[in-house]
Amino acid sequence: MPRVAAVIVAAGKGERAGGALAKQYVPLLGKPVLRWTIEAFQGAVDMIQAVIGVDDQALYAAAVEGLEVLPPLAGGPTRQHSVMHGLEALAHLKPDLVLIHDAARPLVSPRIIGAVIAALANGADAAVPLLPVADTLRRRDDGHWTAVPREGLMRAQTPQGFRFEKILKAHRDHKTLASTDDMALAELAGLAIVQVPGEETNLKITASQDFAAAERLLAAGLGDVRTGFGFDAHRFVAGDHVWLCGVKVPHDRGLEGHSDADAGLHALTDAILGAAGAGDIGVHFPPTDERWRGAPSWKFLDRAANLVRDKGGAVTHCDVTLICERPKIGPHREAMRAKIAEILKLHISRVSVKATTTEKMGFTGRGEGLAAQAVATVRLP
Ligand code: MG
Repeated sequence: MPRVAAVIVAAGKGERAGGALAKQYVPLLGKPVLRWTIEAFQGAVDMIQAVIGVDDQALYAAAVEGLEVLPPLAGGPTRQHSVMHGLEALAHLKPDLVLIHDAARPLVSPRIIGAVIAALANGADAAVPLLPVADTLRRRDDGHWTAVPREGLMRAQTPQGFRFEKILKAHRDHKTLASTDDMALAELAGLAIVQVPGEETNLKITASQDFAAAERLLAAGLGDVRTGFGFDAHRFVAGDHVWLCGVKVPHDRGLEGHSDADAGLHALTDAILGAAGAGDIGVHFPPTDERWRGAPSWKFLDRAANLVRDKGGAVTHCDVTLICERPKIGPHREAMRAKIAEILKLHISRVSVKATTTEKMGFTGRGEGLAAQAVATVRLP
């Protein structure tokens, strides 16, 4: 069996996609783009070497927590320099084959990875996923549009796979060439390139609208849709504020509880645990445990979402209903949605917070306490 390495190129600043955070660290369904990408290679290759931006050490460490990867390397001024850093660092591990992949393609499928490795195992020096061009092409020259015949034109995707020694030599021999992929170097080095079918879904996140498209495709790929339900209630006591859905709301009472008594986040945590079939909040955060005395409840929600992620899944939607006569929830609703979206690393459109009274009936109606209900949708592989 050949030993296969993967070089994940993640050194880009991602200015084209907009936003301050480099695109490879933007969350998709709660997980950074880069984590989806690296998880796609886990188990398919023997070693994974990421090349990252010099200032991105902390972001990278958080993104790959718990994954088996080689220590990251700092990238160079261009993509080609970054790839070469990765290849040089792998040289002493002597892999037979290497797959070079852009971090911004998180939807890379096991089929493409397998096809590239199979073509190399069958003797090819290089294997590249290619797709035909379907759209009509036009080029702007001197103020005029000219038609570009699409016959013979192909779109090159990644991962591009190579015999390790040959692509390393090609990089060393052509250091001054500026190329945006490794196929160009393989061509210059005279390597025999085999074409494998690319996939439309193996999209490269380039523009801001690509994130939503990638989320839809990732959610569709996680086929096992589960729904979980949660309920919680806390008693009003003396105080001057309550915590609800992660937001501090001024009030003439407080809520009694072992933690911060955030019934909204407790109900939601239970909903996620329920969808994952992972017990309830009392099992994970026992009220007898001093660690959780006065704890902020976002820690519970974060832990539940991580539990889903550890199963390879994602929380894709949630809906919380707060039940009380007072305080008024409306003025705080958007802040609550934003806070939950932040904790779950979800787009705010996937988070709902509602409120109702019980028309002065029951314990919530009499103002003895406050209750919350929540449903969460979780997708598992
Ligand atoms: Mg509670």
